[in-house]
Amino acid sequence: MDIRTKSVHNGVYKDKSYNSVTTPIYPTSTFAFDALGKNKGYDYTRSGNPTRTALEENIAALEGGVACSVTATGMAAVTAVLFYLKPGDHVITGDDIYGGTYRLFDQVFSKYGISFSFVNMRDLDAVQKAVNENTKMMWIETPSNPLLNIVDIEAVINAAKGKGIISVVDNTFLSPYFQSPFEFGADIVVHSTTKYLNGHSDVVGGAIIYKTKELEERGRFLVNALGVSEAPFDAWLVLRGVKTLAYRMEAHQANALAIAQFLENHPAVKKVYYPGLSSHPQYALIKKQMKGFGGMLSFELDTSKVSCDQLFSKLKYFSLAESLGGVESLIEHPWLMSHSSMGEKGLKSSGITQETIRVSVGIESAQDLIDDLTQALK
Ligand SMILES: *Cc1c(COP(=O)(O)O)cnc(C)c1O
Repeated sequence: MDIRTKSVHNGVYKDKSYNSVTTPIYPTSTFAFDALGKNKGYDYTRSGNPTRTALEENIAALEGGVACSVTATGMAAVTAVLFYLKPGDHVITGDDIYGGTYRLFDQVFSKYGISFSFVNMRDLDAVQKAVNENTKMMWIETPSNPLLNIVDIEAVINAAKGKGIISVVDNTFLSPYFQSPFEFGADIVVHSTTKYLNGHSDVVGGAIIYKTKELEERGRFLVNALGVSEAPFDAWLVLRGVKTLAYRMEAHQANALAIAQFLENHPAVKKVYYPGLSSHPQYALIKKQMKGFGGMLSFELDTSKVSCDQLFSKLKYFSLAESLGGVESLIEHPWLMSHSSMGEKGLKSSGITQETIRVSVGIESAQDLIDDLTQALK
């Protein structure tokens, strides 16, 4: 089945009472038993809820996993997956991962006996050198945020193959429409559904997709035990959003490519980071691993010509806001906003400057967006 059909037809048609074509919301905390030990498959909403099940079936099908758990936020999904580990275990991850994930690893889990190596995952030698006998998890995020560096998922996983290491890929930036980590050997895929999967900037949520039944069993136990599952209404919103994933991703990508090409030729722009530009240093890997380029781009503004303040204040269609993946275009300043928690040293070593601007390109008309940028960059 094509992914466009999967996103519309998985996890719906569950209403046996009235045959509603969309999945009903079940706003209930608990479910009555028919008799002792006998119920209709649900007992308590933290553990399971039919609306949530519908979304889980849908996302599992999109990623090609055996099952999925959806969670209250993307960070709830990351948190639950880290609990596969125990004190003494070691994790290898990238040095340019999502700031909230970095903070959770560095400031929370490291206090509970789990150690982390933050390495440049484009350097396979560095990955291999970081592996030790306690390494139990590999946490991969690609493309990176905000500089759109690409990690070779298959090569990184192979660098530690046969050592019993669980490999996890955060696939938020491209969505299952443009990247399928299971095809490259991932064991678990996670998402912030807040971003492209929902796509309408009106709910926060997360997802964990499992490659095997064993991983699913442990994952479901953890999500229930930790109490991080997604509310039925929120799950319903994501299920509504996900049905148009394919069409939104195509529109995000077409607009992002047009804007990246426009910015690459603009005199007030020093450099553009976008996987769809053949000038991207990892273009060959991009072609091999990704089915598309996504809707995120960053650029270096020549602030001797146009200040960040001028750009932000003159734009009409790009809201100055964090987050990404919604239908509306957003623009932001990673140094002062999304990535400020990295501190000056971390920012500098990752290559982010005070002139770096990140854009989440929406699905408006490309021409309107380019006209808007043209007047704001004057
Ligand atoms: C936003 C994001 C998260 C965290 O998700 P929330 O829904 O904000 O908790 C994790 N990983 C990536 C790549 C993200 O962009």
